Amino acid sequence: MRIALAGFWLESVTFLPDQTGIVEFERSAKRGKDLIIGFQNTATPQGGLIDVLISEGAEVIGIVDAGVGAAASASDAAYKKYLSEIIVGLDSIKEEIDGVALHLHGALATPSNRKADAHILEAVREVVGPKIPIACAMDYHANVAPESIGAANIITGFRYSPHTDMWETGARAARLLARTIRGEIKPVMAMAKPGIALPSVFSATQLEPLSELVALAETSTGDGPLLDCSFFGGFSYADTPDTGITALAVADSDAEVAKNWVQSMAAKCWELKDQLFREDLIHDVEKGVEYALKLKQCSNKPVCILEHADRLNDSTYVLKELLKKGASKVYAPFMFDPDLADLANQAGVGARIEQPMFGKSSSRAGGAINASARVLWAGQLKFPITGPLKTGMEIDLGPSALIELQGILISVISVQWSAIDMDCFYQFEGLKPEDFDIILLRSKTHFREIYEPMCSEIVIIDTPDWGPAKLSALPYECLPKGVFPVTI
Ligand SMILES: [Zn+2]
Repeated sequence: MRIALAGFWLESVTFLPDQTGIVEFERSAKRGKDLIIGFQNTATPQGGLIDVLISEGAEVIGIVDAGVGAAASASDAAYKKYLSEIIVGLDSIKEEIDGVALHLHGALATPSNRKADAHILEAVREVVGPKIPIACAMDYHANVAPESIGAANIITGFRYSPHTDMWETGARAARLLARTIRGEIKPVMAMAKPGIALPSVFSATQLEPLSELVALAETSTGDGPLLDCSFFGGFSYADTPDTGITALAVADSDAEVAKNWVQSMAAKCWELKDQLFREDLIHDVEKGVEYALKLKQCSNKPVCILEHADRLNDSTYVLKELLKKGASKVYAPFMFDPDLADLANQAGVGARIEQPMFGKSSSRAGGAINASARVLWAGQLKFPITGPLKTGMEIDLGPSALIELQGILISVISVQWSAIDMDCFYQFEGLKPEDFDIILLRSKTHFREIYEPMCSEIVIIDTPDWGPAKLSALPYECLPKGVFPVTI
């Protein structure tokens, strides 16, 4: 069995002013044998695909895999380049392969293409022809397009957010692909959209009643002809015609079974729609900071503040409020400001630096902080991830620094990256979570795996940034009519 493997993935925040270009994608790009070696035994969807396909006796041929976590839309040039690499690569080996394994996020968009994942799948189908099975592992935050299920044979998504089951998702896709090639199953798919756009902060799958819907996808899988069931939370900060929750099922030969399952799931989602929006968990900046400072007085553990609407890791709303209140023993990890990181590296450890800091990435980032800070550490930050997500994958955050700003400790990075695990402590000698009263994060859901047990409480603060809980604050253009709560 010979399987071609490729991937191109990005959670596109289409509202952001910039674009994610080839330079950003090339940081993670792997090709040929490097792609196989680089992802083998890693907690990633590619790792799951590769490990299981090899254990099924397949030879896996790496074409290209490139991606960025969550950032502005992909540039049209980047999309064209990686799509072309995938198609040219497949074209050259299409006579020798039995199947195609892909990892796509499902919320990829470019300025001129809001159905980019579907178009990749359609282009792959066109080049390999109708007979070669295509399996695709997608992110839980995919906005699945109907065209995608027309082009692929198998689509399955992460079940959880935090995405602790990336490997398992790749593994499920790989097993179904191998069984299809061996002629044991004939997968058919159906999908349904209830018409609900969920803010990322409410997409954490342990929140009630979302957890009930997620559990249904898992328990239905393997039920008679249902080979695989997915519940996709969708990604509301990608403005596309397909944005929102999707139920998707893969059944063995029986399209009706798949259709019935997705329709009943869509109906359940609609029934629960009001309860999915956990507004009770949200604070505004002033009250949220006040509440967090009060909480700390009665707790032995740090309090985690979540400035979740920040999509560019540099918002200053909460930081300014903490400074105003004179808070100390605060750590704000992995804040994005390449100019500041450069300046700290030039100035060196012990120096005082002064320039507008953070809050500059867009008009909604809260505005820069003008103050003087002391450099505690400066250097290049490159390491293999130790956390439960993407474990073992090497990342390079570029020139970085640890600075102290009026009693608040901040790690500054040059590449967009969210602190979700212990690496934001481990990578700086001597930093320990227990030394802080408040840890200020910008993750959406992934941090919960580590920070929920470590902190006394997660205080979610909503700000007028590009990823707010109030979706009506965003200038949607592509979202169709009838999507709750935005266009209904
Ligand atoms: Zn996701």
